[in-house]
Amino acid sequence: MTKRDYYEILGVGRNASKDEIKKAYRKLAMKYHPDRNQGDKDAEDKFKEGAEAYEVLSNNDKKARYDQFGHEGMRGGLGGQGFTDINDIFSHFSDIFGGSSIFDDFLGGGQRKRSQRRGTGKPGSDLRVTLNLTLEEIAAGVTKKIKIKKLVECDACNGNGAEGGSSKTTCPVCYGAGEVKQVSRSVFGQFVNITICSNCGGEGSVIDHPCRKCRGDGRVKDEVTIKIDVPAGVHEGSYMTLRGQGNAGKRNGRAGDIIVVFNEEPHKYFIREEDDIIYDLHISFPTAVLGNEVEVPTLNGKAKLKIETGTTAGKLLKMRGKGIRHLNHSGSGDQYVRINIEVPKKLSSKEKELLRELGELPNIKNIQGADEKHFFKR
Ligand SMILES: [Zn+2]
Ligand SMILES: [Zn+2]
Repeated sequence: MTKRDYYEILGVGRNASKDEIKKAYRKLAMKYHPDRNQGDKDAEDKFKEGAEAYEVLSNNDKKARYDQFGHEGMRGGLGGQGFTDINDIFSHFSDIFGGSSIFDDFLGGGQRKRSQRRGTGKPGSDLRVTLNLTLEEIAAGVTKKIKIKKLVECDACNGNGAEGGSSKTTCPVCYGAGEVKQVSRSVFGQFVNITICSNCGGEGSVIDHPCRKCRGDGRVKDEVTIKIDVPAGVHEGSYMTLRGQGNAGKRNGRAGDIIVVFNEEPHKYFIREEDDIIYDLHISFPTAVLGNEVEVPTLNGKAKLKIETGTTAGKLLKMRGKGIRHLNHSGSGDQYVRINIEVPKKLSSKEKELLRELGELPNIKNIQGADEKHFFKR
């Protein structure tokens, strides 16, 4: 089958702006929307074709490739979606179909209706959990177990809301469809307005005897322990989604998700810079001058570090691979040790005397002399 030109499908010129492309698609999707063309195969094909064209032309990379190579360039990973399921189109372009789109005004809430059409109860809501992590935990990854309160499926009725195996009856108002159609006329023409059946809440069936434990809701409050596998290298404020672990849906509806947001606790010693960590080391003047071996903390215990002879303040010593493991590729960041030379505030008279004596020795005295020479030369 030969494919039609994507620009032709949307009826826009080759140099149409993003906004024009979006508007054109909106218009086309409105026209061929399945709710307004029920059972019309041709309209459904046009709806899918439009979605594919929009999917390519609304994406900068794909559009550039299509402009250069046409349909040939769309093979492989960069291809158009070629939607087969209408529901995929709705979820893929939720910015167009979701929320307060024109479809909601005209068609009574596409989003809600779609979940109802599957014949299940209302989906459960998502839960948000903040997880505090130490740098050590982030560096290596960690498995955490936390307790949360959530709605779980009622075990007395297996979540369907009916008491002790009692039956459900097909809703007498919508005859099981879960929605009620009304045909109305407006300046735009004739519309089929579909609303959720108020008698059954869109489920298509009603319960004869509600379950006593959950009062027909199909779910009850409970405290559960969840396990969270935190990969190494996560960042403050980033999150992961645990699909289907949120609140149970009403009467066997789909469960929501748990969104785990990571919170990085401040560390006693380290400052994080991406996947590197910085440690401020304070050494004495003699150590800086003569060099020595010192002990420094790392993310997994203490380690020895060599201070070279003549180390100056502000120098960064790199401890390779002692940082945080990268999240998306192998290897780890590094630990940097920043050298600070500590000047003592309290000195005994003997220490003062020795320092004065030291200050008069040529290599020490010349430090200032060198500066002055440099200064006067300019
Ligand atoms: Zn129950
Ligand atoms: Zn009904």
